[in-house]
Amino acid sequence: TPAATHVTTLLASYPDFPQPGILFRDLNPVFADAAAFRALIDELAGRFAGEFDAVAGIEARGFLLAAAVGYAADVAVLAVRKGGKLPGAVLSEEYDLEYGSACLELEIGQLAAGSRVLVLDDVLATGGTIAATSRLIERAGYALAGVGVVLELTELAGRGRLGDAAVHAIVAL
Ligand code: IMP
Repeated sequence: TPAATHVTTLLASYPDFPQPGILFRDLNPVFADAAAFRALIDELAGRFAGEFDAVAGIEARGFLLAAAVGYAADVAVLAVRKGGKLPGAVLSEEYDLEYGSACLELEIGQLAAGSRVLVLDDVLATGGTIAATSRLIERAGYALAGVGVVLELTELAGRGRLGDAAVHAIVAL
């Protein structure tokens, strides 16, 4: 696809960041290219067109995708935040990362029950982050419409942790 061509051209890779043994994929050069960013958003919004009532972006780069896809599709935007940043009544999910562990949170009561939510993030690695987000979406009373990512790191088998969710990766490495 046009978006995939942009990603493979612009993607940067950093061995041993942020820890030894990790090959870190940097998508910021893709986001920093206007034509590439537009292509990402068009592909993600187009793949799930008509299938979602809201998008949920995962902190932090998922926010960039969710804001743009939400605007393009004229739907609601939810922010799934790292633990301790949201006020009021929140749902929390602990999960393991490729490096370390973390907690994600979602405010309750933002959408009508049964709303179809498309989850967006930059990278699908082990799948722990998106699996935790999917649990938040379902615990909040919504339906998981699908998962969209820019890059899937297939050797980490994250897709296998996402059950029967419809997962779209612009590029799989
Ligand atoms: P997972 O939970 O192992 O699937 O990791 C996904 C999360 O970690 C995403 O929110 C990514 O932003 C981040 N992440 C994992 N690996 C990379 C990488 O190589 N580059 C950029 N972000 C990464």
